[in-house]
Amino acid sequence: MQKGIVIILSGASSVGKSEIRDLLLEDKDLNLFFSISETTRPRREDEVDGKDYYFVSHEAFANSVKNKELLEYTEFNGYYYGTPRAQIDYLVNLGKNVLIEVEAQGVGGIKLNLPDSIAFYVMPTSFEELEKHITERYGDDDASIQRRLNKAKMDMEIAPLFRNIVYNDDPVKAYHQIKEKVLEEMEKRK
Ligand code: 5GP
Repeated sequence: MQKGIVIILSGASSVGKSEIRDLLLEDKDLNLFFSISETTRPRREDEVDGKDYYFVSHEAFANSVKNKELLEYTEFNGYYYGTPRAQIDYLVNLGKNVLIEVEAQGVGGIKLNLPDSIAFYVMPTSFEELEKHITERYGDDDASIQRRLNKAKMDMEIAPLFRNIVYNDDPVKAYHQIKEKVLEEMEKRK
């Protein structure tokens, strides 16, 4: 059986990755399943454990790292985030495509382990636009907003390394661009 394709969706925090992700996951043509990350960040009110993330303790996260259960992991804004390896292997071996959503530095670790994966980088139309989203989106304190902004700046500096850059002036347009590329890739690997 043809193995599934791993698709990485990356870009700065608040750039609108989740909206594009949801459109991609809803699209039956793409046969796409979400890779649920582990995080030590507390759950937000609208999030569901086991759907958006696996919300775990620091100790559980450290164990996952120690047992080499994560493809990559990173520290972001004081919390840890990591991509569990087993669920990706399982889905890909069943011929299903998998979507991993990570900040820019996570991409290297995934590419290293899964060289056949395809990465997309979502760019904001401007840094000012992103700044507005980051400030409005989270009920975060000023220091936390500042950390997200600094990280977004760093992430955007890495952007030129990506072959597939998608501008998020319109999430539906961005989703269609990614879909087209993924369908092309599915056809190629048949
Ligand atoms: P948030 O706290 O807003 O849910 O996520 C913060 C950032 O961490 C986002 O840019 C998100 O894409 C990224 N992220 C989520 N899961 C992972 C992961 O498993 N690994 C890495 N490297 N980044 C992740």
